[in-house]
Amino acid sequence: MKIDILTLFPAMFAGPFEESIISRARQRGLLDIKLWNIRDYALDKHQQVDDYPYGGGAGMVMKADVLCRAINAVRCPGAHLVYLSPQGSRLVQSTVVRLAEKSHLILLCGHYEGIDERVMNEVDEELSIGDYVLSGGELAAMVVVDAVTRLIPGVLGDETSAQEESFAEGLLEYPHYTRPKTFQGREVPEVLLSGHHENIRRWRKKLSLERTLVKRPDLLLGRHFDQEERQMLEEILFEGENQVK
Ligand code: SAM
Repeated sequence: MKIDILTLFPAMFAGPFEESIISRARQRGLLDIKLWNIRDYALDKHQQVDDYPYGGGAGMVMKADVLCRAINAVRCPGAHLVYLSPQGSRLVQSTVVRLAEKSHLILLCGHYEGIDERVMNEVDEELSIGDYVLSGGELAAMVVVDAVTRLIPGVLGDETSAQEESFAEGLLEYPHYTRPKTFQGREVPEVLLSGHHENIRRWRKKLSLERTLVKRPDLLLGRHFDQEERQMLEEILFEGENQVK
């Protein structure tokens, strides 16, 4: 996958892109990231990238001509241009899955008050990483790159780990344990030591359902529960009632 990032602050990406999974994916040729400094596309001698807003008000606005020159420099047929913005639709795992299927993403990072509205004609999708306002789109772009990279085939050592993670099946993931077997008097659940694959699968599925019910019940709204899940939910609710008594 190819990802071009248009930003006023390319140096911000150095740490996150030079460590761990993203760095390995780049080294192995699975991910080709290029950083483009938007300022390089400002033609005046002061390389001005922003200007005062028409109509007055606080802050500066990123200039349309500079942004469009930068976009045109990187855009090729088939590229998908995402503007990171608090006004975009909220990034969720299904969006990440869809983006991971693209061969070429362009991520446009805004700054100041944002971009001249006329640049939105060039944008394929506006994405927000949450209902809060960041100073710039750089951190949001890093979030998108990280989440997408995990889904590129061959990036994660064990291909099943992305499929079993939270949100992949619309549920939160089950709890994990590693050695030692006893820690501060607390034991690893017996079933995980049993070697019985079907019992472990069922235990994990039930814990996934229970956690989602407790921590993120909103994820279950509109879910089609299969027979096994319905039975597990009954058990969870029955056990809960008994605990209350
Ligand atoms: N004036 C804008 C508004 O109220 O909608 C906010 C501009 S913000 C200070 C500057 C830039 O940060 C935006 O252009 C966008 O690229 C980025 N940004 C801020 N919050 C974001 C979020 N929640 N998700 C993605 N990008 C965000």
